[in-house]
Amino acid sequence: MTTPLPLVIGNWKMNMLASQACDMARSLVDRLSEVEGVEVVIAPPFTSLYPVGQIINCSRLRLAGQHFYFASQGAYTGEVSLEMLRDVGCDVALIGHSERRSLFGEDDAAINKKVHRAIQMGITAVVCVGETLEQRKAGATLNIIETQLSKGLAGLSSERLSKLAIAYEPVWAIGTGVTATVDQAESAQDHLRKWLANRYNSEVSESVRILYGGSVKGANASELMRQPNVDGALVGGASLETESFVPIVEAAVELTSQKS
Ligand code: PEP
Repeated sequence: MTTPLPLVIGNWKMNMLASQACDMARSLVDRLSEVEGVEVVIAPPFTSLYPVGQIINCSRLRLAGQHFYFASQGAYTGEVSLEMLRDVGCDVALIGHSERRSLFGEDDAAINKKVHRAIQMGITAVVCVGETLEQRKAGATLNIIETQLSKGLAGLSSERLSKLAIAYEPVWAIGTGVTATVDQAESAQDHLRKWLANRYNSEVSESVRILYGGSVKGANASELMRQPNVDGALVGGASLETESFVPIVEAAVELTSQKS
């Protein structure tokens, strides 16, 4: 079985007007046109998805939605369906980001419905899990992330997981400048990998990419991604500028060339 390429995702959150997002997309296409050995995904806000999709259309960059509602269409004011995301060029969707969980009340049941929907539609589902600082201090990290993952994936059989990625994002590391140590990241991600192997099988556990997210930057990307169970990065703040995002992508490329 071939080892999947590392995956680096830039989550732009609620930043950039459409014109700024387009400039950023052009700049990334320009800088990353020759890059191989890594999959790069950007997740602009909804208002920029269409024009950014047009810009990156002929490049190796892929487009992700930061959020969607699990129904296909209907009277759901303010929501966007996966069909709509796919229509503008998305083939990846973030699901269960801690900001969605804590600020918008997204619970494990909703996350599970969204994962089913994404997989049914052939969209790569990036399921985010992570503990709060209180939970870490209470020694509950592994239990929390395992429970989030098991509820998020409830009812999914192994054949349906080819389009799955997981992002381990400790809540206390997101947007704080405090990055998990390599040991913290590796031990959590090793646990998730073993959980996948036990719940499904070794093929699933080896094919699902497990990303680390939480204050990743050029200076720490390499040491994090060098860990055996860190298959890439979900990047927030550092994905908002070409000059801070490209070094993270380059770190992933370098590691791929070292491993092959
Ligand atoms: C994120 O929002 O998923 C994230 C990891 O943000 P940051 O890189 O800014 O910590």
